[in-house]
Amino acid sequence: HVDVPEDHPRYESLLTRHRIEAGVDKGITSRQGLIAQGRGEAFDYLLGERTTDSADAAERVAVAHLLLAEHAVLSVNGNVAALAPAETVELAEATGADIEVNLFNRTEERMQAIADHLREHGAREVKGLTADARISGLSHERGKVDADGIYDADVVLVPLEDGDRAEALAEMGKTELVVDLNPGSRSARAAAVPIVDNIVRALPNMTKHAQELAQEDEATLRELVEGFDAQAALDEAEREIRTGTFE
Ligand code: ATP
Ligand code: MG
Repeated sequence: HVDVPEDHPRYESLLTRHRIEAGVDKGITSRQGLIAQGRGEAFDYLLGERTTDSADAAERVAVAHLLLAEHAVLSVNGNVAALAPAETVELAEATGADIEVNLFNRTEERMQAIADHLREHGAREVKGLTADARISGLSHERGKVDADGIYDADVVLVPLEDGDRAEALAEMGKTELVVDLNPGSRSARAAAVPIVDNIVRALPNMTKHAQELAQEDEATLRELVEGFDAQAALDEAEREIRTGTFE
């Protein structure tokens, strides 16, 4: 049980932190996941704990990619599962994407716990447990994916991914959409669409965009995708961090 006073200036941030703690207790999130969360919080603080206009624009473009995809997959790790399980399922439903569990430190127990957790939050099918294909250029355990999931996908959303895997997926020719609060991380730099925003804000906002963009024709979606400049989005995030006012 969490007791955070609602008028606390870090209210949202503290709630989020408790979700990660609960994830560790449930065997969903690894202890390294706590460290990743700490890093994310630092960047979120510098960004003012809000979705910037440039992140919102990137989220819209990422959704256009998901809607245009032949086969889109949302990759889920222990942090994403703890922080935004229902929001992940909702985005998958709104875009027709698959959900696949993909862990940096893979254990069968954690894979199973995350898949169960996602199903409790409404997921119909959760991939990742078959692990019958490999991402090239990664060690055996870290490269495991499903042949009919991430391996087959043309567009992959990878929130909070580590740099190695983000780069390896991009090298496989996949269109990579990365949610990462650090605009300087290798993951964000490897992305076709870097989304510099907190996953807890990014996913519901993407679902909202998906509901709007579902009405648009293919040409409009292609125009959105082609007009996007990844480097400009990273530069803009960096500028927001540098010029922000902190409280
Ligand atoms: P690399 O530099 O190779 O990309 P890394 O050192 O960044 O790797 P991790 O520490 O595993 O590897 O990365 C965690 C990343 O996820 C960090 O960049 C952090 O800012 C980001 N992050 C953590 N929590 C969140 C969150 N809730 N929403 C969005 N991004 C987050
Ligand atoms: Mg990173």
